[in-house]
Amino acid sequence: MSKQLNFGAGPCILPQEVFEEASKAVLNFNGLSILEISHRSPDFVAVMDEAIALVKKSLNVPEGYAVMFLQGGASLGFLISAMNMARKHKKAAYIDTGVWSAKAIKEAVNAGLEVDIIASSKADGYKSIPNIDTIDGDYDFVHYTSNNTIYGTQFKKAIDSKIPVVCDMSSDIFSKEINVADFDIIYAGAQKNLGPAGATLYIVKESILGQSSIPMPSYLNLKTHFEKDSMFNTPPVFSIYTSMLNLRYLLKTGGVAAIEKVNQAKADLLYTEIDANPLFMGNVNIKDRSNMNVTFVLTHEELTDEFNAAWKKANIVGLKGHRSAGGFRASMYNALPLSSVEVLVQTMKEFTAEHIS
Ligand code: PLP
Repeated sequence: MSKQLNFGAGPCILPQEVFEEASKAVLNFNGLSILEISHRSPDFVAVMDEAIALVKKSLNVPEGYAVMFLQGGASLGFLISAMNMARKHKKAAYIDTGVWSAKAIKEAVNAGLEVDIIASSKADGYKSIPNIDTIDGDYDFVHYTSNNTIYGTQFKKAIDSKIPVVCDMSSDIFSKEINVADFDIIYAGAQKNLGPAGATLYIVKESILGQSSIPMPSYLNLKTHFEKDSMFNTPPVFSIYTSMLNLRYLLKTGGVAAIEKVNQAKADLLYTEIDANPLFMGNVNIKDRSNMNVTFVLTHEELTDEFNAAWKKANIVGLKGHRSAGGFRASMYNALPLSSVEVLVQTMKEFTAEHIS
């Protein structure tokens, strides 16, 4: 079966090779299905250990940082990160770049913290990343969302901060090199560049564990998971196993540095077409454009039905913009090959040739 070219925003777009290997393990991993083996068995403990080791290897995680797999998605990460970083000020700085950061802010407030929104791009409909100077002040931490999946904006480098930094990297982790030492907590739902939904990745500076100034329920305390090697309760075994396979694949194909170059090439190709083609227009501030989620509109809205038909005919799926943003969104996670972007660009060129004489 020829697979469709998946520009969808998720969940879980993986290389075909990884899907195939993961599906074999569902039928037979070690005489049993990966889904039925005990998570305490040596075979699964080895999977967990390898998954953690491969995260460390692919992101050059320095000494003194813990890698953990929890559940609850980034949505629980909003609360967990705030609760674990609460200190004497019980006050945090948040950068507001749209829906996901607004949800993070809500959970920090639910955790009992006072929140200052120190920068926001709300005024321009979240079409940019706000300008931010070095962050300092009587805050326990600063939080931001590295890639704004819905709008298609992305921080091009880590923020400059004198206070601890917490980052939701759900939609761009493993897509480009990062310096883990810039952060106290990184969290990300697995389901964009890592693996199937179910697992949530945390990369945490060990020295922050157990330091919270507020009461901590066991599951929400990152120290609990660190002490139990991510086995405090039954882990999402299939998500972690498939994430491990995907990380093996990533490292075999050159690691994060290599995929970053491919991701840049994909983004350059598509943005160049959007800028050159009179029928299309990018949605966001050029310097803040995301390499993961490319958002754009038709300059002639009346051609929407025809354009939808054209990309569907080209075997493309998932190009519809987020329900709150409209227009089009081409999500180009690690597993989307450059060849798929070439097909999309060719489709756009042909569409324009047909409609503009
Ligand atoms: N943060 C970002 C940047 C996201 O893109 C998403 C989901 O797409 C979330 C948070 C929510 O993640 P989850 O569904 O894992 O809770």
